[in-house]
Amino acid sequence: MTFRRGRPVLSTFSAGVAATALLLGLATSAAAAPLPDPARAGVTAASKTGTAAKGTSRFAGSVAKAKKPGRDIPPVQYFGTINTFGQNAEHERITRAALACAPGVTPGAEGTCFEPGSIRQLAGAKGTMGAIGAPDVDQVLTEAAHCDGADYLNAAGYPRTRAQATSVLLACIAHLKGEFNRGVERADALVDAAGAVSTAATDLSSDCTFVLGVTGRGKCNAIEGFGRALHGTEDFYSHSNWADRADSRSAIGIANPPGLARTGAAPFLRLAAPAPAAADIPADLSTGCFSLNPWGCGKRITHSVLNKDNGIIDPLTGEATAPTTPRGQIEANFSAAVQAAIADTRAQWAGFRTSLITRYGTTRGQRMACAMTHDNPAVACR
Ligand SMILES: [Zn+2]
Repeated sequence: MTFRRGRPVLSTFSAGVAATALLLGLATSAAAAPLPDPARAGVTAASKTGTAAKGTSRFAGSVAKAKKPGRDIPPVQYFGTINTFGQNAEHERITRAALACAPGVTPGAEGTCFEPGSIRQLAGAKGTMGAIGAPDVDQVLTEAAHCDGADYLNAAGYPRTRAQATSVLLACIAHLKGEFNRGVERADALVDAAGAVSTAATDLSSDCTFVLGVTGRGKCNAIEGFGRALHGTEDFYSHSNWADRADSRSAIGIANPPGLARTGAAPFLRLAAPAPAAADIPADLSTGCFSLNPWGCGKRITHSVLNKDNGIIDPLTGEATAPTTPRGQIEANFSAAVQAAIADTRAQWAGFRTSLITRYGTTRGQRMACAMTHDNPAVACR
């Protein structure tokens, strides 16, 4: 099966694809870092044919970071391959379902939704992975960028304590707040002191570059911070048991952790709010251990046990069907994770707009949100 972007397709919101990496002849380069978790690596028929595209990117990205200069395929070739595979379709579709303007709707002066050229930069489209895809290229092994490793089970002998799991999750939230705040800071370039939108800073005649620390136009930079933050918050719902349920036919254990069955956005993930405290994290909350080493997680709950990152998402309605991961197939787990991620994405954008106003005042702050969401803001936002 090949990846087709024009309609809902299968792909993943984060698994790795060892098969593709092996095809690229890159397996040994990961030796310095942990090796592939076979379950997360997702060596499936789908991944071998390229449908598990986002995972491809995450693994390829780790390789790009791990290899030494001078004997590498230039990273840009990885990106080209990644774009051909159409990576990040789940993130793209969740972000579009949450924030793209519905047909006939405009963002208004407050910037309540993103016009087509602007959502393209945030969520990605054919030819660009968007800001939301950047962590899968240059932060592949950064646990905090994907909210991995906060695993916990309330059972005797579990190798991690609640406090350890909570501190890993709080580190993820702190990391994402950093990205979010960088986006708020960089929005400064969009509007001058008199409140006029900068034509140069908001030009979208070519796609933004979001990876590897390359900065560019002001709008690209602001969208990058926000998009990288969204990547991690969306990951939280597919990688954790916040919205899902355990398999009622099996005993609770590391292969079947409890599900919290919560709906809506997690209150401790509000990136515009003060950092949460340990007491704000539910006692049975878990994400999964992610290791590229097949034995690296030992007897911990793994990413592959919890992940619900694969299925069909309608980018207009957010309807999520045909899950393919084991946890995603239990009851409505895949849909529950996607709906919570959509709710969270909307809440983060509302928080981002509030943060702009808090930092820059109502006139400039609101105009920055207007400039981030309109495709021709120098005309539309004044
Ligand atoms: Zn991720």
